This record gives sequence, C-alpha cells and structure tokens, in this order.
Amino acid sequence: MGRNRNMTTASHNGTAGSAASSLLDEVRTCMESAAAHTDLTSFELEWLQCPHKQVEFQIPVELDSGKRTLFTGHRVQWNNARGPYKGGIRFHPSQNRDTTQALAALMTLKTAVLDLPLGGAKGSVNCRTANLSTPELEQISRGYVRALIHDIGADVDVPAPDMYTNERIMGWMTDEYQQITRRFQPGAITGKPLCLGGSRGRRQATARGAFAALREMAALSGTNLQGPVIAVHGFGNIGGNMLRLAEELLGSRVVAVCDSKTGVFAAEGLPVQAVLEHRAQQGSLRHCPIGDTISPEEVLQLEVPVLALASMEGVIHEANATGVAARLVLEAANGPITKQGERTLQSQGTVIIPDLLCNAGGVTVSYFEQIQNAANRYWSVEKVNRHLDHAMSQAVQSVWDKAQQLHTDLRIAAYATAMETVTAAMRARGWS
Ligand code: GLU
Repeated sequence: MGRNRNMTTASHNGTAGSAASSLLDEVRTCMESAAAHTDLTSFELEWLQCPHKQVEFQIPVELDSGKRTLFTGHRVQWNNARGPYKGGIRFHPSQNRDTTQALAALMTLKTAVLDLPLGGAKGSVNCRTANLSTPELEQISRGYVRALIHDIGADVDVPAPDMYTNERIMGWMTDEYQQITRRFQPGAITGKPLCLGGSRGRRQATARGAFAALREMAALSGTNLQGPVIAVHGFGNIGGNMLRLAEELLGSRVVAVCDSKTGVFAAEGLPVQAVLEHRAQQGSLRHCPIGDTISPEEVLQLEVPVLALASMEGVIHEANATGVAARLVLEAANGPITKQGERTLQSQGTVIIPDLLCNAGGVTVSYFEQIQNAANRYWSVEKVNRHLDHAMSQAVQSVWDKAQQLHTDLRIAAYATAMETVTAAMRARGWS
C-alpha cells in the first residue's frame, strides 16, 4: 500500500456540478441497459424514466442583516408504485432540478433493491449552509415544509436528511409539519432526533450498510478481505461514520480521509478519535496536525485494497479513473462514478459495489423508523442493526444472483432487480 503523488490531480469541485446534471442521463442510460435483460415493455421503461410529479418553489427568508431573499427549493416525486415517495432533502448550491430528479430516480431503485415498501423521491434547496446562521437555516427548513405541506406525509411522501441536512433540520421540519397539521405524526419525516421519534442507529446506518454490503459481497465472491485497509473520500455523515465503524465492523484501518478541500493520510492507520475531534472542533480537516496532508484527489489514487466514495456524485470520472488503484470501490454516496469513469475502472479489473446497495443503509433504517413511529414503540440499537444487516445481506444476495444469471456487472444487476420489482407493482396497479 502506498501513495502515488505523481498522478494528475484534476479538481473534482468543478466537475461535480456538471457531472450532477448528467447523472440523470446516466441513470436513464443504465435503466435502458438493464431493461434489455428484463421483459419490461418500452412503455414501462418510459414510466420508470420519468418523475410522476415535481415542484419548484421559492422560500422567502429574512437574513440576519434584515435583507429578505429567496431560496429555490425542489421536490421530485419519482415513483410511488410500491409505497409512499421516500427520499432525503439536500441543502447544496449545486442543486438543480436535474440533480434532484436523478437522485429521486436512484431512491426509487434503492428502496426496490432493498425490498422496502416505499417509492422514491428527493428534495433540495439551493443554498450554502456554511454561509447561513442558525435562524436563517431554520427559516429555510420550515419554509420547505410550508411549501410542500399538501405533498408530504407518512403515507404520501416522507423526507429525510441528505447532504448538508441533519437531525436538527429534521426536528424543525417535524415541528413545522405537526404545527400546521395539528397532528402528532412522527412518521411524516425520518432521520429525526431521538426525542422526537427518531430511530436508534439511523445516524450510522448508511456507513454500516455500506460495510455490510462489502462484507456480504466479499463472502459471495470468495474474496478474503482480512481487515482491509480503507481510504475514505468524504467526511460528512457517511464518511465520518465509516471512520468510526471500520475497525469494529471489518477489523480495518482507515489510512486516509478527506473533506471537500483537504485530507489526512497515515500509512499505519489514522487515529480515528483524534481526527474526529479535530473535525468537530475546527469544522474541517484544515490545519489538522495528524499524519500527512493529502488532497481529495490523491485520496482517490491511493494504493489501498478498498476505496470508499462517501462524498458526492461524479468524483471519479474519465480524467481521473486511470489513477484509481483500489481493487474494490464502494459507492457509499449516490452516483459517485460517471459512466466513463466506470468503463475505465472496469477495464482495470476494479470491482464496484454500486450505490443502489452501498448507499441503501440510510433509507432502510428510515423505514425502520417509520415502523417504530407507526407502532409508537421503539427498538434497541441492537435490533435496528440486526434488521439492517439482514436486509443488506438479502439485497446483496439477490443482486449477486441476478448478476450471475444475467452475466452482467453488479450495477446492471441491481438496476434490473429494482426495475422488475417496481414494474411488478405498476402492473398490479394496472398502470401498464
Ligand atoms: N438521503 C438518504 C439517501 O439518499 C436517505 C434517504 C431516506 O432516509 O429517506 O438514501
């Protein structure tokens, strides 16, 4: 394991936006490739490739300066054949309708691969949270719910956190929803604080799910991981929890982690607690005195057995894929590898565990949160984790079987599995 500092280091910051706008095309193209392995009609494919409904709205906010300004919000409801629309809300300046559509389509497929009785949706607000004060953020969160009050609900469409949104924001949204509807309906939003009906284990669920997918996939393919060395690209909720859980769940050491600007590297393994503390105190990895400084691009090129992509879409693309040395790449974020990037990785023999599996732990525990809310009875974290592990291993097994049966890669197998599952419900409803 070593570092390769000589590779070209094209910045991914600039590519994320453009990659995001083409993510929708890539999802649709993948659907077409997968459909060729199924008995879907062209009309059914067309249905799956379009959102059922989408809304764009403005959220008025009074800034701390006294100035009033508008933030643009989106909600895309992609498909609800299998249950209420379900998906997170992202607060990020690169968000537009196309990105939100692509992510809503992925949610539909993800819930289907995990066999959750849910549909798919996604929401976004175009804003930069680092520039917003707490009162400004609260106004955006409450305004989002007000704008969508007739379109969300436990049996309609259930929002949750995503990039740059968190439990606190879900808490404000839950309160706004309950104040307006005058009903205690905790299942209308998931990823809530525990004291408002959140689920134990929800915060770590995506990272745990990604590691479960890795473990199960390794077992099925007869790969001996032996506590693999891991590099983690991304330091939000998913990346941070991968750091926390790598040793406990896989016996692994994490040798590198980065946020959007910079990272740290230590060949012998990072002192996880110290890195997390620095990040908690400083808000980023800048000036972190631990290990060597490393750029986000260099993290992608480390010679490690496992690279976990936990940041955002399009970070591995045509220009940098040849520099990826890892044997196994986990798509712990949504859509982190472009189609061209994927082709290059595959030609190098790299195995990609696709986002439809690797990123599905979060929504799976969101579903458990809804079950607990409906029963008004709460599970232990052990029970949550046990059910999550079970759901992940079932999903990995079904995608693995499908890949063997169709002779395809895991992504196409996951798409085909999901599309058949959603289509079965659409047919049963008489939609096609
Ligand atoms: N935002 C997460 C995702 O992309 C979680 C969604 C949810 O819990 O509904 O899967």
